[in-house]
Amino acid sequence: MSDKREAIVAAAKRMDTAGFAPNKSGNVSARMNDGMLITPSGLPYARMTPDDLVTMRLDGTVTGSGKPSSEWPFHAAIYEARADAQAIVHTHSPKATALACARKPIPAFHYMIAYCGGADVRCADYATFGTPELAQSVVRGLEDRKAVLLANHGVVALGATIEGAYNIAAEVENLAGEYLTILAAGLDPVILDEAEMERVAARFSGYGKVG
Ligand code: 13P
Ligand code: ZN
Repeated sequence: MSDKREAIVAAAKRMDTAGFAPNKSGNVSARMNDGMLITPSGLPYARMTPDDLVTMRLDGTVTGSGKPSSEWPFHAAIYEARADAQAIVHTHSPKATALACARKPIPAFHYMIAYCGGADVRCADYATFGTPELAQSVVRGLEDRKAVLLANHGVVALGATIEGAYNIAAEVENLAGEYLTILAAGLDPVILDEAEMERVAARFSGYGKVG
């Protein structure tokens, strides 16, 4: 069994245990050769084994057996558009999803926003799940970023590794919780300016955190 298969299933189970994938939502993939390896559609994570993962080309041709995640179009579109994406984690984590349902991007209220790749986490335009329209919207929302909220849906994070993509998705949920707490208290967060966010990004580039 390949390490990549085991790492995808481990990340998917971790996402589930953390409460980031209610009712078997979410999916995980990794780039493989000229295609990808992706979690199957609708199979509960508790029962998922490395053999259940589906191999496919980026044009949608399934090269192994099984039914790939319904969101394979946005996974494929991200791998097409982003050479830096080696893995993708999609969650419906509750706090980030709450913001996404209000179509509220997360501004640089905390320096850790830079860990998500830029000066904010955008909210991508709504499109029906599993469609090429959603794939286009996700790729646009991820431009110069490693994470994006999906309007009325959830979160997508990409990484240089499976663990890195997971860590970014988890950080989006953490930041969403902090941001919601500020808003719920009726407070106005102080937003860090672009120059500071660039300094933070520069420090991250020489720092050992996996993301
Ligand atoms: P799949 O089970 O088909 O991966 O779908 C879950 C999901 O989150 C759809 O957006
Ligand atoms: Zn989803």
